[in-house]
Amino acid sequence: MFWRGRRQSDNVEDIRGGGGRKLVVAGGGLGAIIIALVVLFLGGKPEDVVRVLQPQQGAVQTAPTPHQALSPQEKEAGEFVAVILADTEDVWRAVFRNMGKTYRDPKMVLFSDVTRSGCGAASASTGPFYCPADEKVYIDLAFLGELQHRLNAPGDFAAAYVIAHEVGHHVQNQLGIMAQVDRARSRMTRAEYNHVSVRLELQADFLAGVWAHHAERMKNILEAGDIEEGMNAASAVGDDRIQRQSQGYVQPETFTHGTSEQRLRWFLKGYKTGDLNQGDTFRANPL
Ligand SMILES: [Zn+2]
Repeated sequence: MFWRGRRQSDNVEDIRGGGGRKLVVAGGGLGAIIIALVVLFLGGKPEDVVRVLQPQQGAVQTAPTPHQALSPQEKEAGEFVAVILADTEDVWRAVFRNMGKTYRDPKMVLFSDVTRSGCGAASASTGPFYCPADEKVYIDLAFLGELQHRLNAPGDFAAAYVIAHEVGHHVQNQLGIMAQVDRARSRMTRAEYNHVSVRLELQADFLAGVWAHHAERMKNILEAGDIEEGMNAASAVGDDRIQRQSQGYVQPETFTHGTSEQRLRWFLKGYKTGDLNQGDTFRANPL
């Protein structure tokens, strides 16, 4: 991708290096113990819990200084995601304007280890996610390394696809799609909701493709091999692939994001058409 020297978004909240400090409850006590259990439950490391249970003397809820003790690589990763976020702002503002709507920029929180979101505690192991309650994308940039090494999806465009997917959820939120799904959720069984979740996620993949389509037309951001990196990443995070890797077998009824083939196909459909009207994954049959 061509990304250096381009605009970086102002909507990045970089709290890396702050670690668990944001979770410190004054004086510890029962509240801290509950939070510690939540952190552990969410896959937090024991160090995070220690930090919560034994707050440093006089620990208060001060925001850590951004870029404190960041390595050059970490700093560069922060610049990269700020450029991608800016690209999503430029594309979605234009697309919304064409629909007679106004796009509200989301914020992106860069954290390390654990933090608190409007949707509950966030830890590195939960992976990047979008919280509709506070309209923020949360990402521990260590995930980008994991994408490359553990999920075998290297390349800068693989990372851009992940960010564009999360911003896709923000687009769904603004279009009222998330609220609709949420309303229907209370009437569904777990298995039924999983099917709806797959449709929601595949649409976010589609929207990531739509973003790539328009970003390329507006700014010529793509280098040879970029779309292949995105396609590879989309299939690397398919439920079937991940289940086969982690547990050795596949349980389709537990899928929440779609198969590798579906994720790749919807991403590509968005990229090729750039047309929001082509992305109704809720009516698509077969999906
Ligand atoms: Zn998603």
